[in-house]
Amino acid sequence: MTKVLIIGSGLAALTAALRLHKRGYQVELVEKDGQPGGRLNQLKKDGFTWDLGPTFFSMTYEFDEFIADAGLENMPFQFNKLDTLYAVNFRGSDRRFFIHADMDKLAAEFADIEPDFKRKMQRFLQSSGRFFHDTENLVVKRNYDSTLDYLLTLTKVPLKHTPRLFRSFWQEMNRHFESREVKEIFSLVSFFLGATPFDTPSIYTILSYTELVHNGYHNVEGGMYNIVEGLKEELNKANIPIHTNTEILDFLSKSDGTLESFIDQHGKTWRADVFVVNSDAAYFRNKVFRRPDFSDAKLRKMQWTLAPFTMYLGINRKLDSIPLHNYFLGNNFEEYSSNVFKNTVKLNQPYYYVNVASKYNQAAAPEGCESLFILCPVPDRRFKPDWSDKEDVAQNILKDFCERVGIDFRKNIVSKTILTPEDWENKFNLYQGSGLGLGHNLSQIGGFRPKNFDEVFSNVFYAGASTVPGTGLPMAVISSKLVAQQIVKKYGSVH
Ligand SMILES: Cc1cc2nc3c(=O)[nH]c(=O)nc-3n(C[C@H](O)[C@H](O)[C@H](O)COP(=O)(O)OP(=O)(O)OC[C@H]3O[C@@H](n4cnc5c(N)ncnc54)[C@H](O)[C@@H]3O)c2cc1C
Repeated sequence: MTKVLIIGSGLAALTAALRLHKRGYQVELVEKDGQPGGRLNQLKKDGFTWDLGPTFFSMTYEFDEFIADAGLENMPFQFNKLDTLYAVNFRGSDRRFFIHADMDKLAAEFADIEPDFKRKMQRFLQSSGRFFHDTENLVVKRNYDSTLDYLLTLTKVPLKHTPRLFRSFWQEMNRHFESREVKEIFSLVSFFLGATPFDTPSIYTILSYTELVHNGYHNVEGGMYNIVEGLKEELNKANIPIHTNTEILDFLSKSDGTLESFIDQHGKTWRADVFVVNSDAAYFRNKVFRRPDFSDAKLRKMQWTLAPFTMYLGINRKLDSIPLHNYFLGNNFEEYSSNVFKNTVKLNQPYYYVNVASKYNQAAAPEGCESLFILCPVPDRRFKPDWSDKEDVAQNILKDFCERVGIDFRKNIVSKTILTPEDWENKFNLYQGSGLGLGHNLSQIGGFRPKNFDEVFSNVFYAGASTVPGTGLPMAVISSKLVAQQIVKKYGSVH
């Protein structure tokens, strides 16, 4: 039986394991962290529970495809579509904009600041939808054997979409809307890609389409980590072991151009016929394989996604007036988002996201309490290596938040955990603490992204955010499909 060793246990790894098991492979995982899931993880402390990173997801049909492909009987977790996706507040204003899935309710929300909102939004979404459907299967959900293969594929995309390649997300917003607030709110999805609307190509307005039309946003019952819990059960049934607290640091190769084994931090060797690396596809090639094409200097020059500064708070009172998902923005959007990642803007007037997890999942907090997650996008460690000021940064965010919601709950905080980019880097081997992996500029996507097969070892493959197709939970699921296809193409399928 062909044995596959997977390095890491993020979503791409867990789903790849089950897809390959279904095809007759014997699979085993090693994971650096103490529990599986990677960034899709969970923190439990002082009677509270928080999802560590992701708090909602889109493109649920990718999970349906996975269930069918891996031959699972049922979806191993339950999820619900959100009617109201999130609320947005601008500093200095009491108004909260609610982003509803229903177009008429959404139009009513913006009627006073963007005349003819519904028609403009429908035009914007139709154009994004056309691009989505013309590229989803043709370009996004497929493997490329070479850069030429990728470029030839691009020639099949209808020509009418070409101008999109030369526009930024922000320029696309300018073509459709006049209101500052509308443009800022509906370009927030570019932050989900770990960048800003000013440096994200307009092709990614497809995210607006998936968010508002195609599939919407979904929450997982009992918390996002139930995705991992559900998949863990499936791995158990399939007798696929996960060895936690095991970090791969080195390797042994064979003279025939294949990899013989990986070596962990204790010097133990892990042998297999085929290897799938779920650790960051660019950083692993640097750190473990020490490849010149991924040297320190080259990685530094690449575009990396935002770094997360995250806080997990247990509050011993209810926060009834705060919705489930919230964005708190300032009044200097362009200046802030253009400079924050380069650390040339002060973090004393931050932009941030707040999730009151216990609002959806009551078990996340004891009776009468709330569990709160705050995410502030900050510079990665190339631009801000020192995070010894983390308490100051946290206090600035909390002060701003309490003022804006009109409740000073700082004295009610009974549990507090802060993760800086340094912590994220150390915990999951994320390059310089970059939260979502490699950026999605045109020179780092498709055939230009680190490939999901290795350049040197013919039996090494990659799955996860920094290889094809990109970041986010649905992309991780697609990534596992693409890597399974590569492996089956080469080694065949037993079933
Ligand atoms: C703060 C934050 C919020 C997010 N919010 C959302 C959201 O709301 N919705 C959404 O769709 N996406 C969100 N994302 C993105 C999403 O979490 C990721 O795209 C996805 O989880 C990445 O999965 P992955 O399989 O690529 O790998 P990862 O989750 O990175 O897993 C890789 C695993 O490999 C392990 N590993 C690394 N190196 C080694 C080694 N040498 N040896 C052994 N093990 C190793 C790591 O410890 C890790 O467990 C968020 C991310 C962050 C950071």
